[in-house]
Amino acid sequence: MTRPHMLVVAAALGVAFSQTVLAVPAAALAGNPLATASTLPFHYPAFDKIKDEHFIPAFNEGMRIQLKEIDAIANSKAAPSFDNTIVAMEKSGALLTRVQTIFGNLQGANTNDKLDAIDSEMSPKLAAHADAIYLNAKLYARVKALYDKRTTLKLDAESEHLLERYHTDFVRAGANLSAADKEKLKAINGTIAKLQTTFTQNVLKETNASGLVVDTREELAGMSPAAIDAAAAAAKAKGMDGKFFVAVVNTSGQPPLAELTNRAVREKLMALSLARGSHGGEFDNREVVLKIAKARAEKATLLGYENFAAYSLEDQTAHDTASVNKLLSELAKPAVSNARKEAADLQAVVDADKGGFKIGAADWAFYTDKVRAQRFAFDENQLKPYFELNNVLTNGVFYAANKLYGLSFKERKDLPVYNPDVRVFDVFDADGKQLAIFIADMYARSNKQGGAWMNEYISQSSLLGTHSVVANHLNIPKPPAGEPTLLTYDEVKTAFHEFGHALHGMFSNVKYPRFSGTSVPRDFVEYPSQVNEMWAVWPEVLSNYAKHYKTGEPMPKELLDKVIASKKFNQGFLTTEYLSASLLDQRWHQLTPAQIPTDVLGFEAQSLKDMGVDFAPVPPRYRTTYFSHSFSGGYSAGYYAYLWSEKLDADTVEWFKENGGLQRKNGDWFRAKLLSRGGTDDAMNLFRNFRGRDPVIEPLLERRGLTGK
Ligand SMILES: [Zn+2]
Repeated sequence: MTRPHMLVVAAALGVAFSQTVLAVPAAALAGNPLATASTLPFHYPAFDKIKDEHFIPAFNEGMRIQLKEIDAIANSKAAPSFDNTIVAMEKSGALLTRVQTIFGNLQGANTNDKLDAIDSEMSPKLAAHADAIYLNAKLYARVKALYDKRTTLKLDAESEHLLERYHTDFVRAGANLSAADKEKLKAINGTIAKLQTTFTQNVLKETNASGLVVDTREELAGMSPAAIDAAAAAAKAKGMDGKFFVAVVNTSGQPPLAELTNRAVREKLMALSLARGSHGGEFDNREVVLKIAKARAEKATLLGYENFAAYSLEDQTAHDTASVNKLLSELAKPAVSNARKEAADLQAVVDADKGGFKIGAADWAFYTDKVRAQRFAFDENQLKPYFELNNVLTNGVFYAANKLYGLSFKERKDLPVYNPDVRVFDVFDADGKQLAIFIADMYARSNKQGGAWMNEYISQSSLLGTHSVVANHLNIPKPPAGEPTLLTYDEVKTAFHEFGHALHGMFSNVKYPRFSGTSVPRDFVEYPSQVNEMWAVWPEVLSNYAKHYKTGEPMPKELLDKVIASKKFNQGFLTTEYLSASLLDQRWHQLTPAQIPTDVLGFEAQSLKDMGVDFAPVPPRYRTTYFSHSFSGGYSAGYYAYLWSEKLDADTVEWFKENGGLQRKNGDWFRAKLLSRGGTDDAMNLFRNFRGRDPVIEPLLERRGLTGK
């Protein structure tokens, strides 16, 4: 995924990174490293100088300066022009963007109680700040005047698109509302911002608090000795000397479920994972969910939409709830039917073992591994020695980028980092010119959000003269000192996925920051990243990086073939767990204020039943109370976007195959037509320019085994 900034105020305004055009911060920021753009290469953040206490004054000053800049634009005596209004807005808010970007990224990747408190304090203030700009009537009058005569302004295509984009942003933010309704909207936005922060923090704290605790080593049978030792160390660190603590990740499914041989322990782990946020206690998110759903529904009503999903989707390539509902419901039936077939296969193994129980959610991964081992004579763990982290990154991810786009990478150790495990690379284009800086933050930490994401510290813009500084974040468990970091197949794919986002950011070649890199509709942004996953198993790439970490031997051909053959395996499960989460996300956001239920889990159960995806052995990938995509802000009413993007992705993979695969000519075409264009044109136009036609769905159905064959 890409991680939106904490609250995308400045970024949504497309604001600036330049330090040259703007008012100088007041004395309040004397000695504050955030006051001016970093003097490090490409304005790379001075992590060694930035302290927690620098953020609040920089936020406050950043908002003050931007409001001053906006006031000057709104109250200008000069007739509105594209330059004195739209471009001026693009250049405003440099300090705020800087502090907000750095803060948002650090709070996601490396937080602490202080940063969490700042987040809580600033979220509603930033929401109010965005409203002060978008609901400024004089400013909107200037934007509208320009928009109304846009065809006469003789703007280049990117500039005209920018003007339309600003007009849409203002209208969607409520610029056409009455003064009284604008005040109502401001209050709702503040409430939503506050609640989303609470939700996010509860999820992280609950996840950290929810690990599995057992008394004996035997109960963890099936896990590797190293993992059990790590569980003992984790328990000790938590003051439970002699016990064992197995941490949980943020999805419903938990990796150790594939290994634990003791069924009772598996069930305990599954149950505590599924109960997160809804079993009472300090971090219970049920009330928070209801309040968020209600506030969003009220916002949509006020803006004239039937529900929040309708409001949200209007601005996406999917466009409306009908088209999203159609895609999801069409796929739900074949997906669940595949999952039921898979369940029958698993049950057969249980029965052959005289297990005497019915396969449940806690058993799925364990027996899936068994069936996979039988069918493909293949155990996922056999792969790991061939997926050593540094090898995967430099000889896999970077290698593919070199073959496709001519990029080269050079690690540098002189730039400061916020954690010693973080690595920094200069990225060079084929002509030897430096293109970007890439930050790789690969290891899991308790103070890091779960999952994986990409974000930018600096976005490319020719208007501002900036180049990309992008970061990838994964959550790979860190091995004990001296041990190699060996990845699972999924982690390898994730590394390629996030780097796909990084390429989208680094290749950006646009004028306006509003359109930089990944500033595209949410249901389009996962498309380039998903395409990049294809290179993880491309034979020429795989043979270059998948080498045994001890012996250097290549992954045996038969193991490789099994990896590829097993790729379609378990698709019923994967599609169903994803679709049920997507459907939940839509259901919660397709409610009017009066329809908001009072019972979160009851509503969840009923929704899954209504949609025909209530198959207990396959719970949703996220349940409501820890569904950060849906309730933290980034992907609300938008979790379907992965599948929507995957349609484009699967069709693009076909294109690469048809055209000879891993070649510079293919990479260069994809870069020129799509990756470099950011949001400068309608997203589907970009796709058509690249592909030569509209996307078709067959490659997606084929990939996910949903063709009914
Ligand atoms: Zn992604």
